[in-house]
Amino acid sequence: MIEQRLSELRNEIPKDVTLVAVSKTKPSSNIQTAFDAGQRIFGENKVQELVTKHEELTDEIQWHFIGHLQSNKVKYIAPFVEMIHAVDSLKLLKEINKQALKHHRTIDCLLQFHIAQEDSKFGLDFESAQEILTSREFVEMQNINVTGVMGMATFTTNEEQIRDEFQNLENYFNVIKSHYFKFNNAFKHISMGMSGDYKLAIEEGSNMVRLGSTIFGER
Ligand SMILES: *Cc1c(COP(=O)(O)O)cnc(C)c1O
Repeated sequence: MIEQRLSELRNEIPKDVTLVAVSKTKPSSNIQTAFDAGQRIFGENKVQELVTKHEELTDEIQWHFIGHLQSNKVKYIAPFVEMIHAVDSLKLLKEINKQALKHHRTIDCLLQFHIAQEDSKFGLDFESAQEILTSREFVEMQNINVTGVMGMATFTTNEEQIRDEFQNLENYFNVIKSHYFKFNNAFKHISMGMSGDYKLAIEEGSNMVRLGSTIFGER
């Protein structure tokens, strides 16, 4: 079942779109199945759950942390996490940099933008993102790479609204790219799209989708 869904998705999703398999709440055996079917990138949103699964599974997995991350928990995932999707403050970025330095690593980070109309979703507005990117502290950080942006659309059946929100995120990406990362090829990811809206997201410029239930079944 998991193998079949993955192979269908690989045929469906364009080659330049990275698939993050969101395995939260699912057992390590499901992750192993997906790994054996060729999937390498997995996303988790709880620190303890990620640490446990990292211990149980092969080091060949590239772990992405996709949830809201508290600064005091960065230290638990810094030794191994590949990418942190939901960076929404300079404070968090500084802590990631500090912990990555301790482990002689560089951690890829995405700036999370608030694009949904719901208050409950975390994320930066454009101005605060600019404040981070222009701060001297940011410029001096050696152990993080900001490699793109991430966002979540409103949970709604209104397609136009979802498209608008994804367009906003793509816009933020383009403006930030041209202002701050023009000659930096590593700044390239637009992480948007989940099981319910990834097709729209890809049409609106996503190149990284985070899919859970459509691969592993309902949670
Ligand atoms: C759970 C989660 C997903 C995946 O959700 P599905 O609807 O199961 O595909 C994607 N992104 C984030 C941030 C999540 O927390």
